Amino acid sequence: MPIWDKKHECISRDILDQLQLERLQATLNRVYKNVAFYKKRFDALGFFPEEDLENLSDIQKLPFTTRKDLSDSYPYEMFAVPLREVVRVHSSSGTTEKPSVVGYTRLDLKIWSELVARVLSAAGVTTDDVIQVTFHYGLLTGGLGIHYGAERIGASVLPTSVGRTDRQIRIMQDYRTTVLVSTPSYALVIADRLEEMSVDIKRLNLKYAICAGEPWSEETRKEIEDRLYVRATDNYGLSEVMGPGIAGECLEQSGMHINEDHFLAEIINPDTGEVLPPGETGELVLTTLTKEAFPVIRFRTGDLCYIIEEPCPCGRTFRRISRIQGRCDDIVIIKGTNIIPERIGDIIAEIEGIRPVYQLVATRHNHHDELEIWVEVSEDLFFDKMREQRALVDTMERRIANFIGMTPRVKLVEPGSIKRVNGKVQLFVDMRPKK
Ligand SMILES: [Zn+2]
Repeated sequence: MPIWDKKHECISRDILDQLQLERLQATLNRVYKNVAFYKKRFDALGFFPEEDLENLSDIQKLPFTTRKDLSDSYPYEMFAVPLREVVRVHSSSGTTEKPSVVGYTRLDLKIWSELVARVLSAAGVTTDDVIQVTFHYGLLTGGLGIHYGAERIGASVLPTSVGRTDRQIRIMQDYRTTVLVSTPSYALVIADRLEEMSVDIKRLNLKYAICAGEPWSEETRKEIEDRLYVRATDNYGLSEVMGPGIAGECLEQSGMHINEDHFLAEIINPDTGEVLPPGETGELVLTTLTKEAFPVIRFRTGDLCYIIEEPCPCGRTFRRISRIQGRCDDIVIIKGTNIIPERIGDIIAEIEGIRPVYQLVATRHNHHDELEIWVEVSEDLFFDKMREQRALVDTMERRIANFIGMTPRVKLVEPGSIKRVNGKVQLFVDMRPKK
């Protein structure tokens, strides 16, 4: 499989270190000069980028940037260029009260497309492919991020966006899609539907599934590959840092190469902030090295993974991160299983096409923990359509079980029946007795 940008992706580690240091220097200078938030922090520490950055590990002197910092800077306070130089704005999904708003200069967009092109090429995409992008096209970075990278390669892009599974399948058949870009759970929703429709999946043109957007497992990868007759790869991105294109798996399928000439990755102990050695699992912290409009310094992603240093047989020299093992925040544990209530919402949203009001409730009967998920559905479904209701419950239970490894009890309820506190639904309620 050809490597998109051999010069950089196969760079020697020595030259890479030097390049990272130069780019980090430039980035720190830029934020010190242009972003009041960073200037204040650096000044408080007595850290002057021109003098105090001698090698890469000096970055450890600097504090972390959190989602809350970004949200407090809503909307444009963290931008390092005037708005007239910004040609695109995206925002995050808003796990915090206000979303993080991120901007891109023309050069940022160019680099973004290049980096996504690297990730897609590593996953098998070439100019001959027809690539169906089922990510959300909008303020979130997923859809447009992949889109421009695929165009950069010269593949034929089908920007189908999320949902409407029957239509996705019709397009997949008629337009002869060869690459499916989706969340892993949506790849399985498509597989389910294809089977229900008795489509001969082997006769589709699909070769690859490129998956991201939620933690998934090797078992899920195998299921996607077996049911859709594809090679499935994982890739990583987040809006706050750039979007897709930060890291992606090659066809060796053993960890995601980080685009290290543009991002500096650290793994920290999420409790102490201490930097951990390669191989140890902790929170991924990212610093952008080339972004103009929205650089971030030591951004705490909340994603748990580890760094793989061993060389990869594909020839790329960039280190890899393991698949994301989970989040170090917003996690609830039921029956020893880590569950992120937000992610359950993502799975339900993919089944329903919209993100309904829902709530996770943990209960305990005879020492057994149980998980109930209450989902508000439309009045007409709730009162009139018993069979549809049953089918919906089954699908939700199966899909969610697939992901969290335990079967929840899904209860469909009338609109407005989940209790609101100050107008908001708590995503998780723990009814288990405290010890
Ligand atoms: Zn590789």
